Amino acid sequence: MSIPLFLLFIFSHYYLTTTESKYIAYNTSQGTVPGKLNIHLVPHTHDDVGWLKTVDQYYVGANNSIRGACVQNVLDSVIQALFADKNRKFIYVEQAFFQRWWRQQSETLKIRVKELVKAGQLEFINGGMCMHDEATPHYIDMIDQTTLGHRFIKKEFDQVPRVGWQIDPFGHSAVQAYLLGAELGFDALFFARIDYQDRAKRLDDKTLEVVWRGSKSLGSTSQIFTGIFPRHYDPPDGFVFDINDVSPPIQDDMSLFDYNVQERVDDFVAAAVAQANVTRTNHIMWTMGTDFRYQYANTWFKEMDKLIHYVNKDGRVNALYSTPSIYTDAKYVTNESWPVKTDDFFPYADHPNAYWTGYFTSRPAFKGYVRMMSGYYLAARQLEFLKGRSNLGHNTDALADALAIAQHHDAVTGTQRQHVANDYAKRISMGYDEAEELVASSLACLAESASKTKCGNPVAKLDQCPLLNISYCPPSEINLSPGKSMVLLVYNPLGWKRADVIRLPVISESVSVHDSRGREIETQLIPITNASLNLRNKYVKAYLGKSPSVTPKYLLAFVASAPPLGFSTYIISSVKSPGSFSTLSTMYSSLGNENDTIEVGQGNLKLTYAVGARKLTRYSNSRSLVNTDINQSYIFYSAKDGSGVDPQASGAYIFRPNGAHPIKTEEQVPLIVYRGPILDEVHEQINTWISQITRIYKGKEHVEVEFTVGPIPLDDGSGKELAAQITTSLKNNKTFYSDSNGRDFIKRILDYRPDWELQVNQPVAGNYYPINLGIYMEDDKTEFSVLVDRSVGGSSLEEGQIELMLHRFFLSSFVFIGFCHDRLDSELMDHTSLLIYDEVFFLSYRRFEHDDSRGVGEVLNETVCVLNKCTGLTIQGKFYFRIDPLGEGAKWRRSVGQEIYSPLLLAFTEQDRDNWTNSNLLTYSCMDPSYNLPDNVAMVTLQELDDGKVLLRLAHLYESGEDKDLSSLASVEVKKLFLGRKITNIIETNLSANQEKLAMERKKLHWKVAGSENNESQVVRGGPVDPEKLVVELGPMEIRTFVIGFEIIFAQ
Ligand SMILES: [Zn+2]
Repeated sequence: MSIPLFLLFIFSHYYLTTTESKYIAYNTSQGTVPGKLNIHLVPHTHDDVGWLKTVDQYYVGANNSIRGACVQNVLDSVIQALFADKNRKFIYVEQAFFQRWWRQQSETLKIRVKELVKAGQLEFINGGMCMHDEATPHYIDMIDQTTLGHRFIKKEFDQVPRVGWQIDPFGHSAVQAYLLGAELGFDALFFARIDYQDRAKRLDDKTLEVVWRGSKSLGSTSQIFTGIFPRHYDPPDGFVFDINDVSPPIQDDMSLFDYNVQERVDDFVAAAVAQANVTRTNHIMWTMGTDFRYQYANTWFKEMDKLIHYVNKDGRVNALYSTPSIYTDAKYVTNESWPVKTDDFFPYADHPNAYWTGYFTSRPAFKGYVRMMSGYYLAARQLEFLKGRSNLGHNTDALADALAIAQHHDAVTGTQRQHVANDYAKRISMGYDEAEELVASSLACLAESASKTKCGNPVAKLDQCPLLNISYCPPSEINLSPGKSMVLLVYNPLGWKRADVIRLPVISESVSVHDSRGREIETQLIPITNASLNLRNKYVKAYLGKSPSVTPKYLLAFVASAPPLGFSTYIISSVKSPGSFSTLSTMYSSLGNENDTIEVGQGNLKLTYAVGARKLTRYSNSRSLVNTDINQSYIFYSAKDGSGVDPQASGAYIFRPNGAHPIKTEEQVPLIVYRGPILDEVHEQINTWISQITRIYKGKEHVEVEFTVGPIPLDDGSGKELAAQITTSLKNNKTFYSDSNGRDFIKRILDYRPDWELQVNQPVAGNYYPINLGIYMEDDKTEFSVLVDRSVGGSSLEEGQIELMLHRFFLSSFVFIGFCHDRLDSELMDHTSLLIYDEVFFLSYRRFEHDDSRGVGEVLNETVCVLNKCTGLTIQGKFYFRIDPLGEGAKWRRSVGQEIYSPLLLAFTEQDRDNWTNSNLLTYSCMDPSYNLPDNVAMVTLQELDDGKVLLRLAHLYESGEDKDLSSLASVEVKKLFLGRKITNIIETNLSANQEKLAMERKKLHWKVAGSENNESQVVRGGPVDPEKLVVELGPMEIRTFVIGFEIIFAQ
């Protein structure tokens, strides 16, 4: 049988070309080439520490029906791919994941991975436990979570991350640039998300890469080279190479069909040239990876090996395996001058109607919980140090870990799915339980050390009241029979003496309070309202699964004072002698007094209300002589629901209001005022779902507003976003100031951006900014400041007015879309939910998406359930305001801001007769009794590390020029901070304590900037610390970090 000619031809062709398909060694050893366009291929994965799945589900690859993502696969396969070729590189970011993986590896593999790190094939960048958000975390939390990751990397790998990699967070803060960037010793910072208008201009001007000076006070001494990606953090189109990605692979086997080497090289060169056209110098970076990629790393590395090989063979451009550190060094040696950027990158919009300003407030209860636990963690670490750290007993490690993860850009932001939000809260709660035990035993130890020289296992059991915010505190709700009293230890985590009003639920009015010296002190009883009791009962049942066993009648209020880093003791007992008593508050009701005006406040500050209108009308301070009109009200925005021409909806990320609706106070509900010697309270029921208590303390000159909001009604079919407004007569000229992560204040101007001509599309959402500490405004005479107890969104949209968004709630409804035959059919339809109709048919409902389409795929609709009955979440929180003569507001904002962050910590026990009083220390301070920290300095960390050394951070609280007295160089006598301990050595480090400060400074890159250097005012920084004198100086906004060794010289 003869073979047809055409077949013979094919066979011979096949025979000839098979010689081409042999093994090729790709040359990937290329470094940078001067004079050519260098394309730095940076292989990376972006692994969210929780979002659609929990952190552990992402790690192990569970719940893959939500998203096929498994981080252990990423790490397993990347490491093997790096072993396979020494030229390959990879960066890894999220230490929460890396540490999970590391714990499970064999010693042999660990040794080999350490070699990869040492050789620069595997580089840790950013290096915190997570890639924290930049709008909603407090700077202390950002420092803590970064330190936790950095110290692990130092300990295991002896490495110091060089680069900040905040690629996904939704806008970027000044504090990130200078504090979590330059002060960490980072050489550069990279990210993707900035306002779309800003990006367009920067692409035009070639100003995507800048030198960023985030702090006015620290200026060029705290600057960082910053690169913004031209589009996003994924590769250019056509170069995404995971298994399921659609980019064409490089087909270089001539024996197979579709050989495409030249085509792919041309694509590569074209994409590189396009990027080079918007970038200064001949170095560009390609971020080769995106979310949860590299689960099968070989697909990426194989393609990149080929690209580097063939592109460099082609020779028009130069491609190389790189990292952001190598890229930064390459940029540096070009000696280019870079434009200077100041302030920050908020707010972020990715579209004309898509301002990512909703997440500043989303999940306000969780944000409140994170902030409350952050303050608690600071205090708990101090007490852990004072007792002596133990790895075996209770410690703060679990709380540290939970809080670190909670700073992730889909955690404290409130932009995760509900089950993930629950997971974060559970972790914090478990961490708190551990820390609570530690705090209790540490305080008991310190108190008992009156009779012993060293703290062993304390006898006393001290209880705490984490639900005191809803007036639930079993230790204070006890029956004070004669001879039995309640002992209250009040611990002050601040470095200066303070006095604050404490309010505790009590069941009897026969109660008196004595201080540490046995003197009876003034007290006031305020009736607990039914509204408070209802809230208390519902949430205690929801959180603890039980109902409170007693019903307290009053809140007992008194002024407690405590020494710095120490405690004092108060004894609460039933009234012993006829002369002792608690003052019952007098009550005033507006009912029947409609023409009244009423003035409240027992001290310098008074507020006036017009009773008929149920309105606050006037604010006056007899000391500062501020006297001004004022009004306070609520407003809600209807949420845009995803219909209409531009269907962008309001959601967890995005704030897109569809009309503003002032909330009218219901006039039939009377205004109730309680007055007494300690404080006055004004109770207002604004409507069925908003109430508030306004408090004025006799000894303080600010107003405290405690709001209770929810469940937000949705019966009109519209999601709602609730804001509080305070309106004054200030002429602020469209200018206000909002803080950056609780630290520097940044000037904001309505409808204006300093970096580009703003096109205003969203006049409300586009003027919202993140608030962590506070917001203020000023005119030529006065300044008006508002402080917050958690992160919220805020703005000033009208002259003299400050607005805070407090709660957000959206609708999730289901629209019938038809029958389907079986469950499987229906599940193939995207976004459907099922209701079983009968055995055969299922009703398929499409979830009516009021989600904002940024990926979370779930409506922000938080509920609380008691016995399977769920209602919308009620939020309780506080804000504080004050009006000062111009130039005097900073003192209040800074010192009270510190008190809000670090409240007095209360611990309770009971005593019979005087057994506690007689055998325990009643006051204690870790500091020299004659010493306080200066008014402008806070101790932001005091922590015993696992090697027995102690981490100390001191922070100057003022910016330069912020206060006429306190914006000056401050001095701290470190010896006086630690009574009974001798400092044996002290080393100043960078912010995350992974390198000595001197080493960091020696390595610092000195970037050239465009324009004049001379317009910067003089930066003040503290000088070196003399090891004998141990005096630490701090300039405005400076934070200094020390690792200290101690010798205990005597027990107190
Ligand atoms: Zn992310």
